Amino acid sequence: MVQVNGNYLKLKAGYLFPEIARRVKAFSEANPEAAIIRLGIGDVTEPLPEACRTAMKAAIDAMGTREGFHGYGPEQGYPWLREAIAAHDFQARGCDISAEEIFVSDGSKCDSSNILDILGEGNRIAVTDPVYPVYVDSNVMAGRTGEADASGQYGGLTYLPINAENGFTAQIPTEPVDLIYLCFPNNPTGAVASRAQLEAWVDYARAHDALILFDAAYEAFIQDPSLPHSIYEIEGARECAIEFRSFSKNAGFTGTRCALTVVPRGLKGTAANGEKVELWALWNRRQSTKFNGVSYIVQRGAEAVYSPEGQAQVKALIGFYMENAAIIRRELSAAGLQVYGGEQAPYVWLRTPQGLDSWGFFDHLLGRAHVVGTPGSGFGAAGEGYFRLSAFNSRANVEEAMRRIRAL
Ligand SMILES: *Cc1c(COP(=O)(O)O)cnc(C)c1O
Repeated sequence: MVQVNGNYLKLKAGYLFPEIARRVKAFSEANPEAAIIRLGIGDVTEPLPEACRTAMKAAIDAMGTREGFHGYGPEQGYPWLREAIAAHDFQARGCDISAEEIFVSDGSKCDSSNILDILGEGNRIAVTDPVYPVYVDSNVMAGRTGEADASGQYGGLTYLPINAENGFTAQIPTEPVDLIYLCFPNNPTGAVASRAQLEAWVDYARAHDALILFDAAYEAFIQDPSLPHSIYEIEGARECAIEFRSFSKNAGFTGTRCALTVVPRGLKGTAANGEKVELWALWNRRQSTKFNGVSYIVQRGAEAVYSPEGQAQVKALIGFYMENAAIIRRELSAAGLQVYGGEQAPYVWLRTPQGLDSWGFFDHLLGRAHVVGTPGSGFGAAGEGYFRLSAFNSRANVEEAMRRIRAL
């Protein structure tokens, strides 16, 4: 008899994006003439930077020669890419992070789930509410939670509400927790954390021997030069934080796949016998056993992000999306909606108008403006009454979507 992983059966059915797809499909079958504009799913829309494509083409040609052929690479990533990442993303910002602490991977989504492999079952886990659903569901699958209640919250997790009242940066928990998932700039709310807020989290983590899992997938969208991009810009973070980064959103690698996780040497967890164990060694072992690296071609493409041309092209891409975000903010405000985010992140988070909950506003927007967004309640119970619009689209689509919303 084949037994299944019963933890999967605890997952709430009707996951957010399938439900959106179902409603959009039903609407477009009933209204085949409607030109639907999607400002929903967090995927980029603009083409890959030329510097990356040129580097990948050269890598493909090299693979066609005996001398330039590459088979299995290092599971941790090629040293030239790890060095470029350490130098440009960390050392240039004053972070004491070395190439050997960088683990190149095929995505932050999988890294932020896989990290649970090296962390014990008894950890008390805190997530924000609303939250990027991957953090919660991966804990459910790994058996680190209880069952979901009527509001969709899982037993055993500590939910930290983020809302307009606390500026969308969670309060430090009052109960002790061991693992804290933080994402800044934030998906879905578009909020960003100040240096003082990150310092408070690092202080908490050090005081409680806790680990911060810091998702910086959107760091490139930060516009205010006084804001930290990395948790390691905060003193003491090397002793209490792992950081996830990705080439998906800055360089449009959502379909190409390249990301990285930083695990500082000397960062420790505690074994059952009380012994301190270096997390770097466990992650290195985990990756060496279960992962065989990102393709040589893709790593060459990622390396090109750090060339002068690549840097200029990525900057232009980010600038383009942030201009979209500014248009969305401006037009929604003019339409009388209360908007948040969208200034240091490609997401605008808005309060749904009086009398409409998150799904009610979804149906209203789809039915009347033929615009698809994401209901805030899909990201957690505290997202109810909010709605996410993404800046990932063409200028023409963003402008047309805003015209239709203003005309409602
Ligand atoms: C898009 C996104 C990522 C990146 O995921 P990849 O697997 O690297 O494409 C990570 N975290 C959040 C919150 C995201 O929205």
